[in-house]
Amino acid sequence: MMKYDLGKGEFRNWIVSEIEFEEKYIGKTEAIFALGNGYIGLRSANEERYLDEKRDLFISGTFNKANENEVTELPNAADITEIEIYINGKRLTLSSKNNKEYLKSLNLKTGELSRSFVYLDDNYNEYKVSSKRFVSQDRLHVIVNRMEITPLSMNSKIEYRSGINGQVTNTGSQHFNEGEKRIYDYKYIQMLQETSQSKITFIQNTVHNIYIVDTKIDRKPKLSIDRRRVSVSDEYEVDKDQTLVIEKFSNIYTTRDIDSENLTINQLREESLNEIKEISYMDYDTLFEYNEKIWKKYWEDQNIVIEGNDYDQLAIRFAEYHLKVMTPAHDNRCGIAAKGLSGEGYKGHSFWDTEIFILPFYTYSNPEIARKLLEYRYLSINGAREKAKINGYEGAMYPWESAWLEDGEVTPVWGAVDIITGKATKIWSGFIEQHITADITFAVWQYYMITNDEDFMEKYGYEIMFDTAIFWASRLEWNDDKQRYHINEVIGPDEYKEHVDNDAFTNWLAYWTIETAIEYYNKLKSNKLEIFEAINKKLDLVRSYDKWIEKLPKIYLPLPRELDNIIPQNDTFLSLKDIDLTKYKNQTHVGSMFQDYNLDQVNKMQVIKQADVVMLLYLLEHKFSKEVKKANYDYYEKRTLHDSSLSLSTHSILASDIDEKELAYKLFNGATKIDLGENMKTSDHGIHAASLGGIWQIVVNGFGGVRMIGGNLRINPKLPESWEKLSFSFIWKNNKINVNLSRNNIELNRFSGDDEIIEIYIYDSKYRFEKHLIIKL
Ligand code: BGC
Ligand code: BGC
Repeated sequence: MMKYDLGKGEFRNWIVSEIEFEEKYIGKTEAIFALGNGYIGLRSANEERYLDEKRDLFISGTFNKANENEVTELPNAADITEIEIYINGKRLTLSSKNNKEYLKSLNLKTGELSRSFVYLDDNYNEYKVSSKRFVSQDRLHVIVNRMEITPLSMNSKIEYRSGINGQVTNTGSQHFNEGEKRIYDYKYIQMLQETSQSKITFIQNTVHNIYIVDTKIDRKPKLSIDRRRVSVSDEYEVDKDQTLVIEKFSNIYTTRDIDSENLTINQLREESLNEIKEISYMDYDTLFEYNEKIWKKYWEDQNIVIEGNDYDQLAIRFAEYHLKVMTPAHDNRCGIAAKGLSGEGYKGHSFWDTEIFILPFYTYSNPEIARKLLEYRYLSINGAREKAKINGYEGAMYPWESAWLEDGEVTPVWGAVDIITGKATKIWSGFIEQHITADITFAVWQYYMITNDEDFMEKYGYEIMFDTAIFWASRLEWNDDKQRYHINEVIGPDEYKEHVDNDAFTNWLAYWTIETAIEYYNKLKSNKLEIFEAINKKLDLVRSYDKWIEKLPKIYLPLPRELDNIIPQNDTFLSLKDIDLTKYKNQTHVGSMFQDYNLDQVNKMQVIKQADVVMLLYLLEHKFSKEVKKANYDYYEKRTLHDSSLSLSTHSILASDIDEKELAYKLFNGATKIDLGENMKTSDHGIHAASLGGIWQIVVNGFGGVRMIGGNLRINPKLPESWEKLSFSFIWKNNKINVNLSRNNIELNRFSGDDEIIEIYIYDSKYRFEKHLIIKL
């Protein structure tokens, strides 16, 4: 059972807790309390083992293909979090009955996981057990644990066994070949493994410091080397009310690390061993202090304050916590995974989730990181070119799912069971879910408009923009009957409609890409000839330009129908049968429809997985009137099951846009519950990264009303009824602007940036200000 209000004093609205141990819900807190620093992602498995646990430790970018029939995925590195405890010879493990005062918490402010309980042995003797853990923010390779056990009833023998355990897999798939295992000086444990296909060497070290009360015990433990496992163990007599402390410091390095590219394996071994030796002379608290400083800085920069609802305040912090721990900000060769680094779901792959759902958070609040994430797309453009070529197109056709830079398309081909045939359902997204190629360009342009980062555009952005426009121009299909260009055989954002023609979202965004490419072609040609020439040489732009000009006006754009303003989601959607969806709209678990129908059947009904036309109305908002937005929202939401976690946030923002305040808030609340909520099974495979980015967007772009529209800044706040105040900051073209919203005022303060006047639209009036602007409502 989850608790949200246990944080007191300076930790008020910073602590998320579970207050009861239930083995079947173990996956939830493993994922939602996951720790990380963008290099390391560590699921918060307990020290002792359980049947349903997933002890995942991921390192960004270390993709491997377990065998020919699988797609590449992030391998699960050897576990270092397990510490087996034996009390008077009996192994400590929890059931629902043998413990009290159970508490497992994540402190969002400091990135620390903690757990405590009183354990009862078979004779009801009591032992106080507590542990804490963090993934270091200042030392990217380091993980720190501390465990304490205090006999409360009698003197006891307590044994620990702990080390590095490579017997883990990715749900059965083994990605590693065993390498050398060794224990140096009775203390420093080292294990090497190599990924089977990508040949990345992982080097892991761990060391233990043992204390009884405050005295450090310097005794040689028993050593053990086993298959895929190295460990030490020791047993101590611990008096009643005395505390045995086990501090365990670990690190992990790989030959794929951006900073170890020029090192040999032996150098890396030595370097990592030196680090573990160095930190073995420190203690948990000292290491924690350094780490805390980085978190402190993060929260100073990202401090969104919501007054009026404690849970909402916690929820936005929860989202921002995960956005930090999942993002490989240190390395532009890595993308953000759909489940962050908190679970095996979606195999560590990146989707449009990054550009459309997560990137705005970075673009508006940490543009350096946004830039790196877009550089990842630039660095992987050859895979996109390859995909275009294989499919008979030109330009860059981005993979639906991406992994390592050269991997290209990595979407698996077979998925969940088809309840009619009993076979696995074919996954078409890797072949025909093509809108990602426009989504990435949209994000590039949005980044450019908000940051003014000309350098990025010159080095990477224009090339992505032009090459994706080249793709779309080659992708268009001439329809002789209608005398216009169509885009046939695609999947739009709504994956419950496969093989459709003229998906509105896809057509509009393809159109937008070509239109934008034309605009920047002309701008570059007149203002930056050198850059133009360089890209022209690479991509033969002049030839493409003629095609863009010829084709653009002939692209079919599904427009709002005269009769009712509805934009057809695709050519056939509006003629499909409508069924009563009440049962599925009221579902407690997503995807319940697939217990009754298979995907072929769902394809033939007016039922939608997630925001699709509604997403179009958000991204290209200036092209549609409020009436059109309202009509389409009403029509499509009724038919949307929100079976993807990407759905609620977009709907909430649209609801704000059409002045449905209560609804917008209800949808926000739903979005926050996807991971943080009471449903104990929703996050087993990992947190929902896009939804967490979406939560940030609801608060800042929805309720806060901050938008970039056609290159201009606009703020139309729509505060929820229960919020008295909302304040946040964002960066607009190098100016940091703080926004304070209340029912009576909109207050803006600029506290860094150049001295230029800032122009802003607020509720459709234009304002200009230098440092301070206050508007009474
Ligand atoms: C998702 C697709 C994805 C596929 C394979 C499906 O559940 O809806 O977007 O490509 O899984 O990862
Ligand atoms: C959604 C996609 C999304 C993917 C990864 C799927 O279920 O339909 O839009 O990109 O999950 O989160």
